[in-house]
Amino acid sequence: MNESEKTGIISRRNLMLRAGAGMFAASIAPVLLPAEGAKAETISEISPDGALKKLMEGNQRYIQQKRTFPDQARSRIVEVADGQHPFATVLACSDSRVAPEIIFDQGLGNLFDIRVAGNFLDDGVLGNMEYAVVELGVPLLVILGHERCGAVKAALDGKAVPGHIGTLVAAIKPAVDSTKGDKGDAWDNAVRANVKMNVKKLASSSPILAEAVKAGKLKVVGGRYDLDSGKVEIIA
Ligand SMILES: [Zn+2]
Repeated sequence: MNESEKTGIISRRNLMLRAGAGMFAASIAPVLLPAEGAKAETISEISPDGALKKLMEGNQRYIQQKRTFPDQARSRIVEVADGQHPFATVLACSDSRVAPEIIFDQGLGNLFDIRVAGNFLDDGVLGNMEYAVVELGVPLLVILGHERCGAVKAALDGKAVPGHIGTLVAAIKPAVDSTKGDKGDAWDNAVRANVKMNVKKLASSSPILAEAVKAGKLKVVGGRYDLDSGKVEIIA
């Protein structure tokens, strides 16, 4: 049994049989939205819960320093050269210490990454997510915050920042404000609130994603990465 069979991801050959050549001809060039509404081909048979399990198992290997560095051989480069079937989308902070492929012990073609300092939703991020779900059939979305996030700290401090950095601060500020007066560590409270607020916001901001969740095709979770231990904790 090969790695794809173990994880329930069907082979590209089967996908072509199921989806027809048209869709996969398009997957080589930039993919167009399906002509009829937002009906997406399910191109991965891994379930939303299976995807989360696979991701968290990778994080366990990383924490225990038992990484297997999957899907990084020359054969994998060839395998994914003309099409991708990632099993999860991770919206992570741009922070250099929170690289999804490393902390979840994944390889090429496994994760559709979106990275923005402060891991918040805006129209561009939502567009990326909708593309991942509608066009690539991704069954899992993770919004991943992290301990001691500098972008969250900037919003917490409330000091003037130069240039476009203010855009980040303004986007994170509502989450920071929601934690005012809460007990405990103000910085970590804000990190957690920012994740939870964006998970909640996702449903109301994207009818396409909300519909996919309702249909059981998509799971959305929020996580917090611990810089000290390397552990990802699911918090929303
Ligand atoms: Zn950060």
